[in-house]
Amino acid sequence: MTVYKAPVDEMSFLINQVLGMDKIAQLPGYEEATPDMVDAILSEAARFFGEVVAPTNQAADQQGSHLDGTTVITAPVLDGIYQQLTESGWTSLTGDVEYGGQGLPMLLSVAVDEMSQSANMSFGLCPMLTKGVVTALDMYGSDEQKALYLPKLVSGEWAGTMNLTEPQAGSDLAAVRTKAVPEGDHYRLSGQKIFITWGDHEYTDNIIHLVLARTPDAPEGVKGISLFVVPKFLINADGSRGERNDVYCVGLEHKMGIHASPTCSLAFGDNDGAVGYLVGEENQGLVYMFAMMNEARLAVGLQGVSISERAYQQAVAYAKDRVQGSAPGVSKATIIHHPDVRRMLMQMRALTEGARALAYSALAHEDHAFKEIDEAESAYHQRRVDLLTPLVKGWCTEIGMEVTSLGVQVHGGMGFVEETGAAQHMRDARILPIYEGTNGIQSMDLVGRKIARDKGVAAGELMKDLLPVVAEARTADLVEMADALEYSLTACQQAVECLFAQATDDWAAPGAAAYNLMMLMGTTVAGALMARSAIVAVSLNASGKGNGVFNNSKITTTRFFAEQIMPRNQAYLATIKAGSASVMALDIEAF
Ligand SMILES: Cc1cc2nc3c(=O)[nH]c(=O)nc-3n(C[C@H](O)[C@H](O)[C@H](O)COP(=O)(O)OP(=O)(O)OC[C@H]3O[C@@H](n4cnc5c(N)ncnc54)[C@H](O)[C@@H]3O)c2cc1C
Repeated sequence: MTVYKAPVDEMSFLINQVLGMDKIAQLPGYEEATPDMVDAILSEAARFFGEVVAPTNQAADQQGSHLDGTTVITAPVLDGIYQQLTESGWTSLTGDVEYGGQGLPMLLSVAVDEMSQSANMSFGLCPMLTKGVVTALDMYGSDEQKALYLPKLVSGEWAGTMNLTEPQAGSDLAAVRTKAVPEGDHYRLSGQKIFITWGDHEYTDNIIHLVLARTPDAPEGVKGISLFVVPKFLINADGSRGERNDVYCVGLEHKMGIHASPTCSLAFGDNDGAVGYLVGEENQGLVYMFAMMNEARLAVGLQGVSISERAYQQAVAYAKDRVQGSAPGVSKATIIHHPDVRRMLMQMRALTEGARALAYSALAHEDHAFKEIDEAESAYHQRRVDLLTPLVKGWCTEIGMEVTSLGVQVHGGMGFVEETGAAQHMRDARILPIYEGTNGIQSMDLVGRKIARDKGVAAGELMKDLLPVVAEARTADLVEMADALEYSLTACQQAVECLFAQATDDWAAPGAAAYNLMMLMGTTVAGALMARSAIVAVSLNASGKGNGVFNNSKITTTRFFAEQIMPRNQAYLATIKAGSASVMALDIEAF
């Protein structure tokens, strides 16, 4: 049995002391988010996810989900947990108060979501996708659609799914073929969607599918995709549950990980056609779906943090228990005494803390973008969210694989056998760089849409904002971090300039370098946020405030990040400067 205890002190420190919850609490509608309230919610959430959800993780992995006819049977150990989750209000924290939500800042809910995903990632995917459906309908649904669907989605009484992928349309959504034919006030959909997470289950009375499809006269490619709401059960005029709609689960994938999350093949319209309702205007579907995908990308990045935290806690527990070899003054030493094990644990800890700071900072900007009254101020924060999204999704999930793999390594042979649970974290983490747009696609989004399109304005703003941290770190005597950050910020600038220069006469240069740029920028921004955290810890120590042990640990972990993680940036820059030549030199026939 693997235990999990939410790192509440770390979360509270980051939210309240580093990322400026005090400023967010001054935004209209967020006044209630005082430090006391934040801490009260964090500790109650820690109890629920630690004691109720986390113990289900390993059994849910072993039991998995199964298909009986067209009905998905979920892992028995999870029976009743969804109801407890929604009844306790954990799924409605950020929901609009107009639809029964609690209207709290995203910087607070991100910590609760982290706990949910650490406790059981397979299970956490169900409310995660529902939240994305809420966002898309809130932004683009008609008043009638909002009134009909949002209250029940916000409360969790109904769940939601996202239906993009088809056998021939994965990264390339231009290839979507599902058809939507108009019929009175609705459309009839037919086609097959694959890989639909929590595409069917019996936790809720209804499931609201958001589906990409093409109308008969739609133009080719992404410009001809529309978005539809397709409820599993039609809804009667009085709001009660009506007839079963023509959408059925016809298959479940057998996967490497996240076994408890049913990954469904959904058949739309095999009989009379599934009734669907257009969201917004025809042919604008991809734009609308992006509202959901962007939120989901941040959420998947956060899953990288969550799974890393859980793997780290488990590795620490094992390293403190397993006796092997000796160390100075200890004849029978636990393995945590050995420098190489300490390296692995510090690497896990530093990467996880850096990733957490990166992911939470994006949500802090999102709160400002959402609520700032001044338009220019709101736009500045939105630019930052847009730029950080591929970094959060890409970097935090890449480190999720690294950290969970180190977790297995710390366990030695016991990491490779399923009994300990360390292998499960590694298997579960492997999906994160793939879904919601592979990390290859994220890195090209970073280079193309987020850096090149505005000619480097948003990236320049980010670098300018981070530059003062170098001097502040030096003043706080965090010399190693000041040096590493100074180098890294210059490296980011050089990398972007180099990429622009190469791209003028080498079409392959941006694609060949994009992944390494994403890793360079992710490591840099995470490092800068670690630096900010350590600067706060130094100042708390100086004024005798806070918990000294916590503050000193933060300072030490930051130093490790500067000395042992940030030198990777030298390699990332070198690979970018090398260009695409050796990447593309071999003829396809030579492979
Ligand atoms: C467990 C699981 C759950 C999922 N949940 C959902 C869900 O709920 N809803 C949903 O709609 N989908 C879902 N998906 C689908 C998922 O989003 C896709 O698998 C993913 O987007 C990649 O598409 P693909 O599998 O077709 O890979 P492909 O697009 O075939 O990609 C294969 C490789 O080629 C690379 N590649 C592809 N195109 C390019 C390009 N233009 N330039 C450079 N590299 C490229 C990719 O990066 C990747 O490395 C899920 C998938 C899984 C496995």
